[in-house]
Amino acid sequence: MNIHIYPKEELLAAWNRDKEHFQPDAVTPPRCLRCGQPLDRHFPVNALSRALDVYICEACGTAEGLGDWAGKTIPLRVWHAVANGRLQPVEKSDSDIVTLTPQCSFSHVFDGPKKVPPHSALPCPVSELVYSRADYDGRRWWMNWFLCQREPVTPELVPEIDAFSDALMKLPELQNLRSLTRACKLYAEPTTEPTEFNLYGETEHFYIWQRLITREKDYNLYCHFYEKAATPTNAAQ
Ligand SMILES: [Zn+2]
Repeated sequence: MNIHIYPKEELLAAWNRDKEHFQPDAVTPPRCLRCGQPLDRHFPVNALSRALDVYICEACGTAEGLGDWAGKTIPLRVWHAVANGRLQPVEKSDSDIVTLTPQCSFSHVFDGPKKVPPHSALPCPVSELVYSRADYDGRRWWMNWFLCQREPVTPELVPEIDAFSDALMKLPELQNLRSLTRACKLYAEPTTEPTEFNLYGETEHFYIWQRLITREKDYNLYCHFYEKAATPTNAAQ
């Protein structure tokens, strides 16, 4: 399993197409992915983005630099190419790719009935099977697992949970707390708490909600697995 974080691959693919216009100068320069204005037709005038390996216009390069300096990173979802639907879906050569997005497509999981898991008095959705909790101690990640029902996880589902978890921890965005913090600002859904963010994904049998926490000396990543077959709306279909 491999994990993509939207819209990273889509922006990289767009830039791969756009850069073909420069030979080395562009007759009709493509639009800046960040602001929508035309790039400079003379390639070196444009700037390599600090967010990912794509070129943006000179003005955006300066704005990004100033924003980074002030600790204000603009999320990729507000880039012109993303917000205005200029991106094309990335062809997945591998069907085993999971995309994480800042938008939840399974809110019915949280709106539905709840249960009280064995290890906690806090109710959780009935379909929650298991969750992991991880913290980064400055050198490495430490992860624990919690079962949300009294019965063990069906053996057939275990490899899917393991594969997702393994792929997640291999992401460069989770290399350390600094990279996690940057990824949260660029890719994740903000919450009312400025140090907490959400990402959502879906595998064959699970909806997956991740809560990412950028505080030091705290738990930094919760990953909740909701079994699709046990989600009331799905079961009723
Ligand atoms: Zn621009």
